[in-house]
Amino acid sequence: MTRKPIIAGNWKLNKTIQEAIELVTLLKRQVGDIQNVEIVVCPPYTALSSVSEILVDSDIKLGAQDVYWEEKGAFTGEVSPSLIKDAGAQVVIIGHSERRQFFHETDEGVNKKTKAVLKAGLAPIVCVGETLAEREADKTIRVIQDQLRGAFAHFSNGEMKEVAIAYEPVWAIGTGKVATPLQAGEVHDFIRKELSKSFGHEVAEGLRILYGGSVKPDNIARLMQEPDIDGALVGGASLDAAGFSEIVKSASIVTV
Ligand code: PEP
Repeated sequence: MTRKPIIAGNWKLNKTIQEAIELVTLLKRQVGDIQNVEIVVCPPYTALSSVSEILVDSDIKLGAQDVYWEEKGAFTGEVSPSLIKDAGAQVVIIGHSERRQFFHETDEGVNKKTKAVLKAGLAPIVCVGETLAEREADKTIRVIQDQLRGAFAHFSNGEMKEVAIAYEPVWAIGTGKVATPLQAGEVHDFIRKELSKSFGHEVAEGLRILYGGSVKPDNIARLMQEPDIDGALVGGASLDAAGFSEIVKSASIVTV
């Protein structure tokens, strides 16, 4: 089965509205015509609506970096799936390790957020990944298994079909230490097999599993050669138009 790769940029807490407009305008010019890679940019909430105006006639998709599962009400500071949709986004990152680490996000919360996002017709990218201590204690597979079971508890096959997963080893995020293609490939292979057990072969084969953790223009091509790596979630290198465009172009060439 062919899976269209995704290259998604997570801008984290960076870029004013003006800076976001400038970056996405350059991206549109540099990679806006690439068809065989799904390109996603995830600016901060404050820039979503302005960026969506720039992307209105483009195939580059817009994503949010987080979401809350409730639709409306007394939840100060939170943003619902329908508000994200209203701002023009189609994609939402859920369960990023920085959310888990600094904001105490749990697998149960990831589950509720993913359900709510699907209900709103948005596409979730659900992040999983082990810490360095967990890897060194040989607990990587166990940790990923628990995160998957928590995130997708009570999901139907139909819901699961709409999900993308990002495997992001915490020790590789923002550190410059990229997982070797073999380390990443091994976990991706495990994720697909594990989800195949719960949701069947067809759903698992269609799932896009992205790698995240210090992806740069010089390592994306090799990572993408792994059969179970279907793209990347890119942090630092997505803040620069030239670097992110190079990553997208390399992914596009490997995919041909
Ligand atoms: C991320 O934020 O998801 C990420 C992978 O960051 P970086 O590419 O900077 O390691």
